[in-house]
Amino acid sequence: MRPKILEQLFKPIETTRGIGPRLKIRLKYLIGENLVDLLWHLPNNIIDRSYNPTISKAEKDRIVTIKATVLKHFPSKRRGLPYKVTVIDETGEIDLVWFNGRKQYLQDLLPIGETLVVSGKLEFYKKKKQIIHPQHIVSDEKSHNLPNIEAVYGLTQGLTNKVISNHIKRAVDIVPDFSEWQDKEFFKKMNWPSFLESIKTVHNPKHEDDLDHKNTSKQRLAYDELLANQLSLGLLAKNFEAPTGQSMSKNIKLMDSLYKNIPFELTNSQKVAIEEISQDLEKPSRMIRLLQGDVGSGKTIVALAAIFQVSGNNKQSAMMAPTELLARQHYESLKDLCFKSNINIEILTGKTKRLERERILDDLKNGKISIILGTHALFQEKVLFNNLGLVIIDEQHRFGVHQRLSLTSKNSLDPPDIVIMSATPIPRTLELTAYGSMQVSRLLDKPMGRKPIKTIAKPLSKVNEAMLSLERLINKGEKAYWVCPLIEESEKIDLAAAVDRYNSLKIIYKDRVALVHGKMSVEEREETMKDFKYGNKSILVATTVIEVGIDVPDATFIIIEHSERFGLSQLHQLRGRVGRSDKPSSCLLLYKSPLGENAKKRIETLRKTDDGFVIAEEDLMLRGAGEVLGTRQSGLPYFKIANLSTDRELLEVARNDANYIIESNILNKTDRGENLKILLHLFNKEDALKYLDAG
Ligand code: ADP
Ligand code: MG
Repeated sequence: MRPKILEQLFKPIETTRGIGPRLKIRLKYLIGENLVDLLWHLPNNIIDRSYNPTISKAEKDRIVTIKATVLKHFPSKRRGLPYKVTVIDETGEIDLVWFNGRKQYLQDLLPIGETLVVSGKLEFYKKKKQIIHPQHIVSDEKSHNLPNIEAVYGLTQGLTNKVISNHIKRAVDIVPDFSEWQDKEFFKKMNWPSFLESIKTVHNPKHEDDLDHKNTSKQRLAYDELLANQLSLGLLAKNFEAPTGQSMSKNIKLMDSLYKNIPFELTNSQKVAIEEISQDLEKPSRMIRLLQGDVGSGKTIVALAAIFQVSGNNKQSAMMAPTELLARQHYESLKDLCFKSNINIEILTGKTKRLERERILDDLKNGKISIILGTHALFQEKVLFNNLGLVIIDEQHRFGVHQRLSLTSKNSLDPPDIVIMSATPIPRTLELTAYGSMQVSRLLDKPMGRKPIKTIAKPLSKVNEAMLSLERLINKGEKAYWVCPLIEESEKIDLAAAVDRYNSLKIIYKDRVALVHGKMSVEEREETMKDFKYGNKSILVATTVIEVGIDVPDATFIIIEHSERFGLSQLHQLRGRVGRSDKPSSCLLLYKSPLGENAKKRIETLRKTDDGFVIAEEDLMLRGAGEVLGTRQSGLPYFKIANLSTDRELLEVARNDANYIIESNILNKTDRGENLKILLHLFNKEDALKYLDAG
């Protein structure tokens, strides 16, 4: 339950007076659901209104605050012409100008003869001074209310700074003076202001310096956010820990039979990862390990080695993939190796027929099956194992699966060991915030014989050259992807673009072209992908929905249209669809010129390197952590205030602090604990509290 002290702050954002349906939608889009979310929307600039010259002295292009008397109204003569109001002081006159100004409103606001204070940007029009859409007009008596320095907030269309400032101010006004949740000693050392004071300061910047991320108020809030993140991860990790795990030793003969049959030489990092996992399996404590490796780095075989070790102890393994197609792909690539060593492997998906399904469930229960492959749904259903020793979760790019899994894991007597496979090369810093202190094995080198993917960038006007290259490849019997971007705001338009491309390619390639997009049902999509992988389709036109883990070794060419619209990591992931065999592959980035600064850097980086980790770090620098990989969708933590590229040190401190808090059971026993719970609520991390042991 949310503490009472937070009640006001957690009211929906539309609770405040003056928020109608349209504004509500905009605020929710820009800010979030609740009043509290307004607090995290920090100003990114200031306007200095302290310049108040007389009209004759007022300089062009400056923000002026002028005291003047209303002389005359000039309502617009026609639609589209401005409404003007002339105001004067002893030294001269100036026009205030509105486009689409409402007559009644302006007449009430500016009665003739009234002296008012007006603030806005001074400009010239035909040698006459004017202010277009003044930001403030107040009566002389109320002019002390006009801020000298005004905070400027990031906006979305249809929101003015004034409106958003007012709402934020109201939210700031209801922030209680919480009891301090930070450690007293540490807090003193850092010389940080209280939460309330910090919030007030960041929303009332006085100088440019106050906008700096390194000022004490912002650092304090950033630390609050990082601590909330690390605490919730720490509680989650604690929940994974079980009093006893299983000890599964290596059966050398069985392992040898696997290695004998693998048709390739393992890479060094594959060998290291296999050994790390093997040692963890052998230990009696429970293993939770992240196996991280770029697409195509060969995670599956590492998982299989772990599965073999478990089978050698007559225990079962379950491997879950995010989609049916990927589960099938795993099955296809593993079944031969399993059969050769007499290990019983089965696949269970939504498509498995009823009788078959019942047989599989039975065989699982009585231990006849050693490995079951399936989608994540496998664990939501009533699947009973004989003795489950290992769970492998292929997360691909969808994070958070392990979190859901953890819900059921604590109380089972012999909880299985867990390996989470992730294809997303998260920078070290983010790794800490996404997985806490989980053990990590990384596959850094690519399998031998892989040729680097040749990456070329060309303006869209050269699309005909792309067509020619495509034709050459298809005639050689190779396959290609053609990616058209999907932009959220105009899904329809983009879909149309993909359909157009599909139709134009169809003229040449007939039924060898296929199309996948987000509006198709999952089944349709998987069917089409299957056709591309196993069937007679040579070209797959796709919006960005291309299944992330799909492995089509024959595909050697990928064309990405409007590549300037994609993020760096996204481009890297897309490019990773090709280069999956010993045939040379290439990636053609078509872009709309002229390229912006950032887009140029992205494309340069991509041409320079194929190292997912380097690319991820670069992406972090170019975009800031919140946006990396469309983090909001992927479930990677998104930070509202903390900035992972500059707050790394704070993050380390927060991690240690969180560990200490959890180890010393501070959340349960102390006043600080109660205060920390409020912190978790403030940053929406209260879910983690359910992992807290009672007592
Ligand atoms: P990912 O890490 O993306 O899951 P996979 O495990 O699907 O990668 O491996 C991609 C492809 O590379 C597969 O066809 C696999 O058989 C092959 N592969 C894996 N390891 C090696 C290796 N050491 N040498 C050559 N090919 C390998
Ligand atoms: Mg994989």
